[in-house]
Amino acid sequence: MDSLVAVEKEVDKALDLFENFYDVIDQDINKVIDHVVSIMNDLAKIENDQTFKLSADDSVSMCKEQVRDFIKRYSEKHKDLHANISKIGKVIDKNFVPDYGNLSQINLIDTPEKKNNLNMAICEHLLRNGHLEACETLIKESNLNEKIDEERKKPFVRMNYILKKLRDKDVDPALEWCQANSKELKEINSNLEFNLHRLNFIKLVQQGTKAQLEALKYARNFAAFANDCSKEIQKLMGSLIYMTTGLENSPYSSYLGPELWQEIEEEFTKNACKLLGLPVECPLYICVNAGSKALPALVNILQVMQQTQVGTTLSKDELPIEIDIGQKYRFHSVFSCPILRQQSTDTNPPMKLICGHVISKDALSKLNLSGKTRIKCPYCPVEQSPNDARQMFF
Ligand SMILES: [Zn+2]
Repeated sequence: MDSLVAVEKEVDKALDLFENFYDVIDQDINKVIDHVVSIMNDLAKIENDQTFKLSADDSVSMCKEQVRDFIKRYSEKHKDLHANISKIGKVIDKNFVPDYGNLSQINLIDTPEKKNNLNMAICEHLLRNGHLEACETLIKESNLNEKIDEERKKPFVRMNYILKKLRDKDVDPALEWCQANSKELKEINSNLEFNLHRLNFIKLVQQGTKAQLEALKYARNFAAFANDCSKEIQKLMGSLIYMTTGLENSPYSSYLGPELWQEIEEEFTKNACKLLGLPVECPLYICVNAGSKALPALVNILQVMQQTQVGTTLSKDELPIEIDIGQKYRFHSVFSCPILRQQSTDTNPPMKLICGHVISKDALSKLNLSGKTRIKCPYCPVEQSPNDARQMFF
């Protein structure tokens, strides 16, 4: 925050100078132009009159002097302005750490297969967000034609079309989608179809008495949901009483807020992703967000490590410090080995001993350095064969 304030101060200073510069230069230029024009007029008048030639020469040289002086003054002012602008750049460099290069591990994406996976993740992100054209270009340029064919794109194209229509307050394409996927939606206990009908119904109630009959007819669509949504259906029927006076000043005014429409977009995306076997939030988006949140702490620890010249002895998959980036980004439990005090990884997974105690695979190998057939649990007296330990999955 302090960094931003420092930069803002310099920007404000430069902007003030600019404003001043433009105010004054406009007036000065106009003055010079007026002067030149009046001399030109005078010269035109006295062209053939030799008596005034002498005084005219004087005026011209005076004018020349004035223009020269003007140019000199303003080139100096311009230099001042430039100094102020370059100062902004220096303040930015001073206040923001520009080098994140040390933090990235380029070798993480060092094989064609990993590169492909990254490009696939970007393509999926673009498809999810409806940037079809950008996705097409990436597919072409990264030779992903075989992996992302038309069939794979189709559901995303449809999803984006439905979302766009929902934003225009048209629920019909979404309803069609629900009917086409009714079996799968039932399996995941989705209320999407009912909520879409609800929005259509509210739209009719909003139109007032002229749509009364239509609203009543439309209410038949709720019959299929009578078991699961009876309370909400009763509420919707209650809103019919206010068709003549308007819902705005009724106890049902909450139906008119933008929230229901925002919620339906989220609900549809959630359902569609679930049916497609995709996580609700885009994995790439989550990665970038989580990375950005963790970055300041990593920059700090890197500076400390460099200043104190502590080399990193940590493995590639392990962070030098624990960084809490919030509950939202916690997807699974982690295991830290109580003996080696290391977080488990794919190559060093947690192992459960027959007594129930859990240690990491590396710790187990260390206990069994001599290759004995039996080892003793470090936490209880149970003796056992290291081969009896079982890998655990969190
Ligand atoms: Zn034990």
